[in-house]
Amino acid sequence: MQKTDSPRIAIIGAGPIGLEAALYARKLGYNVTVYERGRVGEHVQRWGHVRLFSPFGMNATSLGRAAIFAQKARQAMPAPTDCITGREHFSAYLEPLAGCELLKGALAADSMIVSISRQGLLKHEMVGDSGRAQRPLRLLVRDKQGRERVELAEIVLDCSGTYARHRWLGDGGGPAIGEMASEASISYQLEDILGDKANAYAGKTVLVVGSGYSAATTVSNLAEMAIKHPASWVYWAVRTAGSQPIQRVANDPLRERDRLAVKANNLATRTDGNVEFHAGTVIEAVESAGQDKGFKVTARKPGKTITWNVDRVVANVGFSPDNTMYRELQVHECYASLGPMKVAAGLTKQTGRDCLQVAGCRPEELTNPEPDFYILGSKSYGRSSQFLLKVGFDQVRDVFKLITGKPRLDLYADTPS
Ligand SMILES: Cc1cc2nc3c(=O)[nH]c(=O)nc-3n(C[C@H](O)[C@H](O)[C@H](O)COP(=O)(O)OP(=O)(O)OC[C@H]3O[C@@H](n4cnc5c(N)ncnc54)[C@H](O)[C@@H]3O)c2cc1C
Repeated sequence: MQKTDSPRIAIIGAGPIGLEAALYARKLGYNVTVYERGRVGEHVQRWGHVRLFSPFGMNATSLGRAAIFAQKARQAMPAPTDCITGREHFSAYLEPLAGCELLKGALAADSMIVSISRQGLLKHEMVGDSGRAQRPLRLLVRDKQGRERVELAEIVLDCSGTYARHRWLGDGGGPAIGEMASEASISYQLEDILGDKANAYAGKTVLVVGSGYSAATTVSNLAEMAIKHPASWVYWAVRTAGSQPIQRVANDPLRERDRLAVKANNLATRTDGNVEFHAGTVIEAVESAGQDKGFKVTARKPGKTITWNVDRVVANVGFSPDNTMYRELQVHECYASLGPMKVAAGLTKQTGRDCLQVAGCRPEELTNPEPDFYILGSKSYGRSSQFLLKVGFDQVRDVFKLITGKPRLDLYADTPS
């Protein structure tokens, strides 16, 4: 089949980057559909109680603001320096953006992309050949009733994020013994411990596993919970050695982030609080007694086996991209991060840098052997948690330089803030 003259752009995911990409495409006059399996900003809404550590000015674009103000001139916007919660970001920016005139009719709700393939061509045919682009990309779309349909597009931007796919608790990142059977009872995301999940955590014994900012948030919230509910107890287990689980960024310009790191590290080193910290600890087995009936957890430290009986297990051990949906395309993936190879290679060269200092990639680095298929947003960083929204906005700008063939095109620079 020949490509149509006006390419159809399919965007997977109405998260912050999918919406921004759709806006950019619509502004350029493209025919765009954004497929979303949940709500607009589904993942941001799920962690909506968490405060973003980057200020609002870094999390919104000139194009996005202009589209919202065109719709409602008096729409209230946070100040550029405000650090707001995910929920506030959703209602101040993502929700009005999704409802703006330019995106009218672009959103396909209740539409999960199950697979993307190249119509009439198998994965191993025309290897690395740009001629594959002569056939459209075929998307298998499923709604909540399980009804399926096929839609075609010339260009696909996969902005589906990673938040819905957790990693595992066990040694080396594999599942611990019994973890898969207990999966439904374990919390892998950032629960609203001080809000709608308070009853589930008040006065409970909780095992938290992980040494990133998500674990720091969970432990800090549980410690706050313990002030009102002194029976609460937290075991905090991390794989790494050392008494300071959260690595601070020297002279951190993001004050919210540093405040969280300091608070969590203090909780780990204090001996008089309700947090018992265990460094150098690996989870061996998790046995659930049934939903809300507690767990028996076995962990290993050098020369020692520990058993904990806990009410809840929170596994803040990171996320991983869903690469099954594009299995039939020619995507070159990084074997370490599962991100697209060229983006991953650029990131590997900058290992150890704070995410704020990580340089974005060049437009060509967004390409894959599969023509016209691009992975953008947090999914482009694979298993790395270093992604920032401002990087995603640069990717949106750059991918349209490639799509339009205009290397100087920059709608963000051309739109007054
Ligand atoms: C707790 C937390 C705090 C963060 N704080 C910051 C911060 O302060 N500053 C910052 O710059 N970044 C921050 N980030 C990182 C990043 O900016 C966010 O993860 C952001 O949400 C990424 O946007 P995205 O559009 O790439 O993906 P997502 O927000 O994950 O959106 C993906 C969308 O795709 C949909 N989807 C998934 N699969 C499918 C499918 N098969 N079919 C259809 N739809 C699908 C999902 O439902 C979702 O709506 C934070 C991340 C987390 C988890």
